[in-house]
This record gives sequence, C-alpha cells and structure tokens, in this order.
Amino acid sequence: MTVTSRITAQAALPEHPDNGVERGFVDTQAIVFAAKRLDELASRWPESRYLNVAVLRALLSLVQRDPERAQVGFDAWEVAAAVRDEYVRGWAANDLREEVAAKVREHWQKLIGQTWPKKEEGVRQHLQGAGIEFMPVLSRDEGGGQGNPTRYCFALEPFEAEDRRVDEERPFEPVDGKVSDVSVCVSSARQQISYICEDVEDASWLARTFAQGFQLAGWRRHVFRGVLLFGILIVGLTALLVPMTLLVTRSVSGIANAAFAAVVFGYVFWATLGTLLMLHRWRIALAPWWMQSVDDDRLVEWRCPPRHTDKSIKAVRYTAKCPLCGGKVVARSGSFMLAWKLVGRCEEAPAAHVFSFDHVRREGVRIT
Ligand SMILES: [Zn+2]
Repeated sequence: MTVTSRITAQAALPEHPDNGVERGFVDTQAIVFAAKRLDELASRWPESRYLNVAVLRALLSLVQRDPERAQVGFDAWEVAAAVRDEYVRGWAANDLREEVAAKVREHWQKLIGQTWPKKEEGVRQHLQGAGIEFMPVLSRDEGGGQGNPTRYCFALEPFEAEDRRVDEERPFEPVDGKVSDVSVCVSSARQQISYICEDVEDASWLARTFAQGFQLAGWRRHVFRGVLLFGILIVGLTALLVPMTLLVTRSVSGIANAAFAAVVFGYVFWATLGTLLMLHRWRIALAPWWMQSVDDDRLVEWRCPPRHTDKSIKAVRYTAKCPLCGGKVVARSGSFMLAWKLVGRCEEAPAAHVFSFDHVRREGVRIT
C-alpha cells in the first residue's frame, strides 16, 4: 500500500489505491526504513541511557514491527511493554495501568521538550545524507474516556514542507542535485566530506542557553549587549588608570601595576567575550573557554535571516566521517599552522587527515 506521508495510512486507503512509484508518495517501507535509521542514530546518542530515549526507541521498534499503525499510534502500555522487552527489563512491570500511562507520558514529555529539539537538526542532516527525503514527526494523540487511550505516533513529512530552512541552508546545491547524489559522490571522491551539525552534549548551565540557541531578541538581546558593554567599560576604565597614575604618582611601579592590570583585564575580556563580540562578523568561531568541554571542539555560530528564521547564537559541533579511515572528523581550531581558521580534523589521525570546513555548505575537502 502506498500512502502520502501526511495522510494516515488508514485515511489514505480508500482514496489512494496502490500507485507504485509516483514521486512524493511514501509507503510503509519508507516508514520502516526511517524508523530504523533513527533508531541507529538514537542508539549512539549519549542520552541513550535515559528512559526518554528508551521510550522513543520502543516506539520505533513498534513502528518497525507494525508500520501500518505508525501514524495512528500505539498506546502507553504497548510502548511500556516494548521498553521492557528491549531496553529496561522489568520497567513499570508491577505498576497499575494509570501509573504506566503516567510514566510513559512523563518520559515522552522529556523527549519532546528536551532531547528531540536538540537532535532534530542532526537527524535531518543524517537522513538527508542517507538519501531519505522525509523527516520523522513525533506526536501524541490525546485520548479521552474509556477505550480511547492516548496514542504515541510516528509520521514522516517531506523535508520541503517540514522546514524550508533546509533548502536555504544548501543554497549552492545544483538544481537537480538530490542529496542522495551528493552522498554518492562523497563516498567515491575520497578527498571530500560533508559535515553534520550536532548538538552540544553535557553542556554546563551557562553554555546550555547557547547550546539551545540564544535568541537575540527582547530582553535577551539587552542582557547580551549589557554584558558586552560592561566588559568593554571595565577594560576601558583599567586602561584609563595608566595615564591617571602617571599624573598622580609618577612612580614607575605604580604605572607598571596599572598597565599590568589593564593588560590582564583586556586579556580576560577577550578570552571570555571576544568571540561573541566579533561573532556577527566572523559568523562562526571556536566557542570561548566557558562553553568548552575537555575536547575543545565546540563552535559558536551566528544565525540570522535569511538562512535562519531568527537571529540567534548557537553552540554547535560539526562532525563528519573520515573518507580515508572511517574515523570521526570534528571541526575545530586550525591551531599553529592554520590559526584563525576552523578545520576538520580526524580523531584517528589529527595531523594527517585534515579537511577544510565550510559551515554554510557543510562541506570540506582534504587539505593535508
Ligand atoms: Zn581519518
């Protein structure tokens, strides 16, 4: 049976008889394929140890087993049973029916509210890279009364309708160039890679606002400006101390102290906020130290219209698969040889497998 991605399988059945290969239509095979790919991705998320990801993966396994019901949904007890069968043995096994439903709802809300928004962009790019033209849509169909329980649903929406931004993010794509063609040419040309934008894992509380995208609007914009202005003011005042001490004391040590303080304040300001101050010009840069983790691979990206819907600053990671050894290429600072430039370095061979990094086209070519 072939159905449009936006109409439920059941609803589509009478009006849409089997119409084979027509473009823009997706069958249950596509649902199974997308669910399988998403499950593979979810299994590698660092959050995969949490129950909300287990709930997602349980739903995905139900979808793969019974794709015709994907869009109508599965009830909480089916989801809980799948969690038990495949991920967490004995989970909610001895609870009352209402308690099971409440637990599934609680983890679903965590999934939709916290985990999924962070993963969505990377999932979209992964699926596009795999030649899948549809984006999974997770939803909950609120039930009511006896015999009509809340259902957890999985559907596919075409990329174009789901998010126009995707087209704008790849403005230099050839007109007929489907993403699947790109991935084929990437694997054949061993010198090219395509990057995936991933979320920042385990961010500290301060970095988390940027990991979720710091919207430059309303009070946030004023706070952001205020912090930058305050920093500039402090540096300016300490710099002013140098000529002041010169006037007042004329002692060499006093002037040296004032100059030293000015340099220290200047450096601290630059290291802490310099990147954010310059970001509207640089567009993408290595994130300041207070956003980094041990790996030092977090970047900050200035996002604004027309490529993005809102003006925001987002902490991100860009990764790709190394075409030379299969290792993980991560975009990071170019260090000594390529200072001021971001490059993609393979984790297996950081000095030998180096690629350029273009965050707009999400592409790179080998440079060493
Ligand atoms: Zn490599």
